[in-house]
Amino acid sequence: MPHRSDQPVPHRSDQPVTHRSDQPMPHRSDRPVTHRIPEPSGLPVGDLPTHWHPQGPLTVDLPVPQVALAIGAHPDDVELGCGATLAKWAAAGCRLHHLVLTDGSKGTWEVDADRAALVATRRREQQAAAGILGGGEVTFLDWADGELPSDLPARRQVCAVIRQVQPDVVLGHDPWRRYRLHPDHRHAGWLTLDGVVAARDPQFFPELGLASHRPRRLLLWEADVANHLEDAAGFERVKTDALLAHRSQHGTTMGIASADQVATLEAKVRRQLAAHGALGGLHAAEAFHCIADL
Ligand SMILES: [Zn+2]
Repeated sequence: MPHRSDQPVPHRSDQPVTHRSDQPMPHRSDRPVTHRIPEPSGLPVGDLPTHWHPQGPLTVDLPVPQVALAIGAHPDDVELGCGATLAKWAAAGCRLHHLVLTDGSKGTWEVDADRAALVATRRREQQAAAGILGGGEVTFLDWADGELPSDLPARRQVCAVIRQVQPDVVLGHDPWRRYRLHPDHRHAGWLTLDGVVAARDPQFFPELGLASHRPRRLLLWEADVANHLEDAAGFERVKTDALLAHRSQHGTTMGIASADQVATLEAKVRRQLAAHGALGGLHAAEAFHCIADL
């Protein structure tokens, strides 16, 4: 008998998944993965995919890295994807570095917007947001918003930043997240993966004159299949504050009319963090796909 098409069928499993790998990673959690499709948070990035099924136990909380590099397509993507995790690590002594790939020049609904002014505004907003999360340098590659390629020249740029910053952990968009519309998010994901491979192998881009560097972990946010949580309890508000720093995006991305609607945005952030945390029995978390074999 066919399902009614106007009533989505939840793919809910009441069976906790308890597969165990032969090669356990450190910091393994025995928490079974449970997944109930949550209500959308109202944020444009980071909700769990509705097509995902529980797949194996989760790991929780990497050791705090000495240096973390977060790579986002646009100003605000890093805060949306991993803002709480970065704030937590910074509070524990980690040095943060943001790499923003595009100039954010299409981040407005105003037809007659002054795009050069918007680019300058968004750079300032990104600096402010980075400061709220715990400081650290911000590098802008200034590709035109919406036109980011994942070709060799762009890969060379990302490789150079990874070799210069020498991060223990790299964070970025999951390029395998299905049915994602924005091309920059897909390309940013590929550049993150391909940049890591290039950075670790000395035969890539020797003309850069930079020593190769192999990060220890790669964390992909908005993961198609989450396998790792970073506990975010206590860092909900700082993530909200970092998002609020992107004032030019309040209407378009955050869905609020002004900075006065802090409570509205914070509720969205808390809803998403709670949904991620619920995968592993945590009150609040940011979920990632962690790649440990780099
Ligand atoms: Zn974006």
